[in-house]
Amino acid sequence: MSRVWNFSAGPAALPESVLRRAAEEMLDWQGKGLSVMEMSHRSPEYTRIFEKTRDDFRKLLNVPDTHDVLFMQGGAVGMNAIVPMNLLQGFEQAAFVNTGAWSKKTTKEFSKYGLARVVLDNANALADTAAACYVPECASLLDRVNGQQMAYLHYCDNETISGVEFNGQIEALAGQLDCPVVADMSSNILSKTLDVTQYGLIYGGAQKNVGPAGVTIVVVDNALLNRALPICPSAFAFGTVAENGSMYNTPPTYSIYIAGLVFEWLIEKGGVQWAQAQAQEKSALLYDTIDNSDLYNCPVRRQDRSRMNVPFTLADEALNSCFLSKAAEHGLVQLKGHKSVGGMRASIYNAMPLEGVKALVDFMRDFEKTEA
Ligand SMILES: *Cc1c(COP(=O)(O)O)cnc(C)c1O
Repeated sequence: MSRVWNFSAGPAALPESVLRRAAEEMLDWQGKGLSVMEMSHRSPEYTRIFEKTRDDFRKLLNVPDTHDVLFMQGGAVGMNAIVPMNLLQGFEQAAFVNTGAWSKKTTKEFSKYGLARVVLDNANALADTAAACYVPECASLLDRVNGQQMAYLHYCDNETISGVEFNGQIEALAGQLDCPVVADMSSNILSKTLDVTQYGLIYGGAQKNVGPAGVTIVVVDNALLNRALPICPSAFAFGTVAENGSMYNTPPTYSIYIAGLVFEWLIEKGGVQWAQAQAQEKSALLYDTIDNSDLYNCPVRRQDRSRMNVPFTLADEALNSCFLSKAAEHGLVQLKGHKSVGGMRASIYNAMPLEGVKALVDFMRDFEKTEA
């Protein structure tokens, strides 16, 4: 068996030790004679798995008692409807920061439920493509949001497709805003330390940085648990899910179990501080390689470049398919950029070791020498 270096944007690579452990425990979990997949979600065994997973996540992200952690379903795209249904009671509108494809999608879906006010975007020559390439100046948000009766301010902390990442700009302003901040962190949760108290809500689908698809992690301020519209389905109402310890209905038990193994792995490595340092080192290596070459180019403004998703183009587009096939011969896969952006994208979440990024940059340098 040989495993490839998998640069998929999601579902993405998982730590090999986690997969091995899951394989060992597949048929017989800790001598109980059954697989985690076959356990009742209310059994004592599964309750142990679930509570440890939740507690490890709280520890990793330093979640204070003011906030609950929920394990839900529907993914981040589902949250585009679930969030307005949960937070719009007593409000007609919410504020949106549009910095790329995912935040735009969130804004569009919101319009089914209320008035979406785009208070900031990175409109420039590229605004109509998914490749808008910078984080806009955020200070003006205070004037545009405060006093406007916004239910919340939504933004996407890491735009997975275009590779644009915030670096605490909105977190730093949150204390001066008169509405809660809601952040989509699907593709960078657990890759940097956060001050969770500054957020009303943080959510993310698991399949990038946490575990397999199927579970959505929700960190919610307890003060926001009971603002749901009457039409909100009970299974998706934060208050109901919280009261029932994420067991109002059957949660995605196996995905949660794997996420738990990933959390154990991350704690062993040194937690989010370790992930943050590693993300810095890996992304710097890749961006330096791109910036020091004549063949590769990254369109994202330097200070706004994502540490998780690294998009780049080749100076000669005709070389794209050759690049991808030669890369695959070297065991470097899933490097094709999103169809809306083109070029390449290397997603390097927590589970991608430095060694994998080194293999990629070695290949990129060789390719430039021999093919370009
Ligand atoms: C992948 C992704 C989504 C979509 O998640 P689903 O689980 O497919 O609903 C939304 N937002 C961001 C930032 C993403 O990276």
